[in-house]
Amino acid sequence: MIQKTNELPVWDIEAIYPSGAAWEKDFAKLRGLAEKFAAYRGKLQDSDKVLADAIRADEVFDRLAEKLYVFAHLRADEDTGNAEASSRLDRIKGAFAELAPFSAWFMPELSALPDKVMKKYLDSPVLADHRRSLKEVVRARSHVLSEAEEKIIGLYSDVTHAPDRTFSLLNDADMTFGTLTVDGKKETLTHASYHTFLEHPDRKVRRTAFRKMHVSYGKLRHTFASTLDAVVKRHVVSARLRKYPSSLAAALFDDNVPEQVYTRLIDSVHAHLVPMYRYVELRKKVLKLDKIDIYDLYNPLLPDCRKSYSWDDAVKLVNGAVKPLGEEYGRIWKNAVRERWIDAPPRKGKRSGAYSSGCFDTRPYILMSFDHTLNDVFTLAHEGGHSMHSYFSNHHQPYQYADYSIFAAEIASTTNEILLFEHLMANSRDRDLKAYLLCHLADEIRCTIYRQTMFAEFELLIHRLAEEGTPLTADLLDNEYGKLNALYYRIHGDKLISHEWARIPHFYYNFYVYKYATGMSAAIRLATGILKNGEPAREAYLGFLKAGSCKDVLEIMQDAGVDLNTPEPVDAALDYFAGIVRKLENML
Ligand SMILES: [Zn+2]
Repeated sequence: MIQKTNELPVWDIEAIYPSGAAWEKDFAKLRGLAEKFAAYRGKLQDSDKVLADAIRADEVFDRLAEKLYVFAHLRADEDTGNAEASSRLDRIKGAFAELAPFSAWFMPELSALPDKVMKKYLDSPVLADHRRSLKEVVRARSHVLSEAEEKIIGLYSDVTHAPDRTFSLLNDADMTFGTLTVDGKKETLTHASYHTFLEHPDRKVRRTAFRKMHVSYGKLRHTFASTLDAVVKRHVVSARLRKYPSSLAAALFDDNVPEQVYTRLIDSVHAHLVPMYRYVELRKKVLKLDKIDIYDLYNPLLPDCRKSYSWDDAVKLVNGAVKPLGEEYGRIWKNAVRERWIDAPPRKGKRSGAYSSGCFDTRPYILMSFDHTLNDVFTLAHEGGHSMHSYFSNHHQPYQYADYSIFAAEIASTTNEILLFEHLMANSRDRDLKAYLLCHLADEIRCTIYRQTMFAEFELLIHRLAEEGTPLTADLLDNEYGKLNALYYRIHGDKLISHEWARIPHFYYNFYVYKYATGMSAAIRLATGILKNGEPAREAYLGFLKAGSCKDVLEIMQDAGVDLNTPEPVDAALDYFAGIVRKLENML
């Protein structure tokens, strides 16, 4: 029996503010708090007590601002057509911009404290709760230039970021890709529809979409090569000015991740390409193709799982999936459902997609549009993983260390997805469902670990070339990208794939994508470890959830049993992929 939409839970954001009037009352305090914090300007040198008070004033302002923002954006996302809610959101965003100068002085002044003052502060009991943050400031200091140099770089920043803007304007606004016929209807090819067409069962649709897309990029490849070349050069120059050993080291500095973690990821994937080749071969067989091409990798191998799930089914399945995480986790998660952290009903005007969002002083809320599909059950598990991570970190860390880093952001959510996958596999006798699940996960691992590592390898290659002084021309980029693509998939098909680099916005993000691959690898390693080893692995995992950013992210993960300084976790995740491929080979 499928529940009606009105029986799905609606989130309780009145727990943040019972009314718009209550929000207004807090909103009116914001400016005064910003001024209080700004009054410490120029005084950080005075004493450890003054610095502690300044940090406290900053925290009071930030916490209120975040709470105001969370309420405003959740309410606005419930119904994007709600004028009152969207004006509230505009006002809080406007206040952030207007009040930014009241806090902009803080980091530069802190960072510029004389060594002997900083040393005193690091030993001060009054600042003991902030020692790690201060150490991070000191660590970063060796790469900060003189005030005059920083000023020049700051003034030029708008100019040096012009190629990024050119790329996104060209890519998102100016380029068009034409039309194609899909199911007898003329459709426009856009970035969004491209992905839908690539998943189409009719190969002609996939092929046409792929060719039209990449022919368009091919025509502009010299322009795209020049924007990418300029951005990579900026990374290289900036790393040199700031005395980093390489542009890669500069990009990994914030997370304090050694370069070997990055290069080892690439090495591990290289050592596990055979399962990928087998998966490509399997696709070719199941799709009954003489020759497989790159546009045959995205369409689902098996028809969608048509089974329908009620909200209660979904909750029960996720409860079952997270059972191996133990009593404490299970209890809090069940309470999350009861306490209505989740907004599940699809409704007109609601923001599409799904997210987990909150702050230190609110519950970690979840927005989704539950439509009774298996995919929605996975979404609940995924967003639930994010929210539980936030809950644990917020409850076990002080405000300053409660936020976890982007590096760790997708680990808890993906761990829950893997647990749900294993739970469904272990408790279902439905062969079709199992085959569907296996295909689905294989595709996810292909896109998240293999494909993102290929991107990461390309990024590293072009930065190294730029460091040697080699200009990144369209020919060079085409050639190198084509070679990598052939290496990762062993598909020797349509040559147009060599222009794909031109349309990937992530290449402008400065060594970002490898985190997707390490994150999913860690999640697979954690979930399978918990299922295999029980209690000790589970306790270590809860330690990770509770750690926020109280240490370097690699150290936190090491404590959880995932040591990314060794090849072991990524190797284990790729072996898991090989196991899925083997199972599929036997089933299909
Ligand atoms: Zn996520």
